[in-house]
Amino acid sequence: MDVQSYAFKVGDLACVVLYEGAVSYRLRAFFANAPEDELAAYGLPERVLAPHNCLVVTTGGQRVLIDTGPGPTARPEAGWILQALTQAGIAPQSIDRVVLTHSHPDHIGGLFDGRGHVAFPNARLVLASAEWDYWRASARDTTRALLDLLRARFDRIDPPAEVAPGVRLRPAPGHTPGLVMVEITGGPDRLTCTSDVIAHPLHLTHPDWGIVSDWDQPLALAARRDLLAQAAAGAWLLLGYHFPFPGLGRARARGETYVWEPAVSEPALPIARP
Ligand SMILES: [Zn+2]
Repeated sequence: MDVQSYAFKVGDLACVVLYEGAVSYRLRAFFANAPEDELAAYGLPERVLAPHNCLVVTTGGQRVLIDTGPGPTARPEAGWILQALTQAGIAPQSIDRVVLTHSHPDHIGGLFDGRGHVAFPNARLVLASAEWDYWRASARDTTRALLDLLRARFDRIDPPAEVAPGVRLRPAPGHTPGLVMVEITGGPDRLTCTSDVIAHPLHLTHPDWGIVSDWDQPLALAARRDLLAQAAAGAWLLLGYHFPFPGLGRARARGETYVWEPAVSEPALPIARP
């Protein structure tokens, strides 16, 4: 398995983006309500590859992992978070907190390893209360079962809240009821992990093109508009979970909307995996 990582700093905080794989979706999954002719004009393939960029931040002597990828059921295309950590020199046992931006399978599935064991045995798991409550009451058995199995390890948080020094949860409901973005602040520098408020670079150019799995599309699109307006005005550094690895970049205003400006030239990724 060829995994990649990208190390950088936010002020004095050491950060590593881990590429844990990518899963393909049909094009419409990302642009559920896009007019046919406008979408076709981009000439995108019928299936779109969605990478998973997981972030590890070291702060105040703690290691915080943000999102885990879909877990071993997604192999061989994805599900390699433990391999990615190990290859980056980070022992899974050394993770103190796992922040879950929301409870979709491609973000929480990596909480278990390929043998059904807890992947991060020493970590507290952080999830917004609204997210916990919604999925505990939902009919999606696999998500509810996963939360139940790990119940004792979870800390349910009401954002906005700081969960580790310089690591703040910022509520952005819409894609799911309790979705949070994660703000990393080190000295004067800041990084905002956007989770699925934006899930494809084209969402900057077409902020009104919703994701098929949005729980409340108007709310999701309002959260996106809000994020993009602030991010462009403040030249925020963003991490797009599903953006091309390593997913770091900025939203630049262009007319009424925005364009994605990668902050790091994107390393080539192999398509085939052993
Ligand atoms: Zn996602």
